[in-house]
Amino acid sequence: MNPNLTPLLLDDVQYCWHPFTQMKTASTPLAVVRGEGEFLWDEQGRRYFDGVSSWWVNLHGHSHPAIAKAITDQARTLEHAMFAGITHPPAVALAKALIERSPPPMAKVFFSDNGSTAIEVALKMVFQYWQNQGQPQRRRIIALEGGYHGDTFGAMAAGRSSGFYDPFKPWLFEVDFLPAATIDTLGTSAAIEEASLKALDRLLNPIEGQALPAALILEPLVQGASGMRMMRAEHVAALCKRAQQAGVLVIFDEVFTGFGRTGTLFAADAIAAHGGQADLICLSKGLTGGFMPMAVTLTSQAVYDAFLSDNVHHALLHGHSYTANPLGCAAALASLALLNEPATQARMAAIASTHERWLATLCSHPAVENPRRCGTIAAFELKSRQNNYGSSVSQWIRETGLQLGLLLRPLGNTVYWVPPYCTSVDTLDWAYTALLTLIDRWTQHNAPDTGSELF
Ligand SMILES: *Cc1c(COP(=O)(O)O)cnc(C)c1O
Repeated sequence: MNPNLTPLLLDDVQYCWHPFTQMKTASTPLAVVRGEGEFLWDEQGRRYFDGVSSWWVNLHGHSHPAIAKAITDQARTLEHAMFAGITHPPAVALAKALIERSPPPMAKVFFSDNGSTAIEVALKMVFQYWQNQGQPQRRRIIALEGGYHGDTFGAMAAGRSSGFYDPFKPWLFEVDFLPAATIDTLGTSAAIEEASLKALDRLLNPIEGQALPAALILEPLVQGASGMRMMRAEHVAALCKRAQQAGVLVIFDEVFTGFGRTGTLFAADAIAAHGGQADLICLSKGLTGGFMPMAVTLTSQAVYDAFLSDNVHHALLHGHSYTANPLGCAAALASLALLNEPATQARMAAIASTHERWLATLCSHPAVENPRRCGTIAAFELKSRQNNYGSSVSQWIRETGLQLGLLLRPLGNTVYWVPPYCTSVDTLDWAYTALLTLIDRWTQHNAPDTGSELF
């Protein structure tokens, strides 16, 4: 055993199994003992900028006192009560706040625990909606290539194209995939958008005897996990309109894009500006500001009404032990209040313009490809002679980032910032400067005559 491991790390090695990790070859995890604002500290007191908001969940910085207090106060009042046959003030207040802030036609909130379960709930709602409507032949799901919707079975089926799910393939239901018209350096080609719409048209009008489409599911504006791939709002709106004209429901997976990430409170707001709407919206990551695991599936009055019946089997017979947990609701309400503050909005705008300024510099860097931004999300590809998710490229970036005080979680050779909204321009300027050092080290490391044997 490695003699340099601290007692914490020794016990981690002995007892923990980490997510998305090949435990045999993984490097030692970073042992974080404290967080404050946009920073995390390790056992030795070294500081790291959490430029990825800890897997995109932490909106307002770590250990934010207002959210911590909301949770403490709630814990002393009512920590939990089951949500079947019971209701409580934090759940009602949160449901009301979410419906008031989300674009039409959202009318009802169904609570669950994480992004994947929010997707499962949306898929089950859609499947049962059509059965309740007397149209069980409407049962196919249409999704976008490169979409990621989570790691439970329905979510894996809808995100199948990401390639993580090969061992589970025999158990996944069939899904139809459209090409995703994502923007690259050359700008979105109208031809790819047109091809995506044409493919949708074909799926919306299947040949006689085939099952009909039930719903279109997509990550609006930004496909997160497949590499921060961005799409034009006009195009997403066009996809929604076409699907709905054919009677198909639209699910927006806003697990990542929700809560201000893309520049509006929800990506759905930007799409609504172009006349596109969803019938269901899934939210999770930023919902509680990164404090409590919680998720919601929002839907329209029309979808909700299809479950009203004298027959109990027309009801959505789905629920989780911790549905609408009061601590989660209290955290979410406190996080929403912070998000609403003019100071937060001003810092989000400053993050966006700081990204813009640095991306303009990175544009001309020979090792950088396709710098892009949407709201507070910035991304680019590091030119590499190989390009695989989980490859040594991403491991090199992660480890070099840590040496420079940056917590990065690259997707293959895609480097991105998704900073907490408390991040100051000074911190972000410092982080970009450190990132330039990382890119320069990469240029040397990746040069064919020096580092090639390392791959
Ligand atoms: C993270 C993510 C999910 C899954 O959420 P979990 O909380 O990890 O289950 C689903 N959809 C999108 C777009 C995500 O980014």
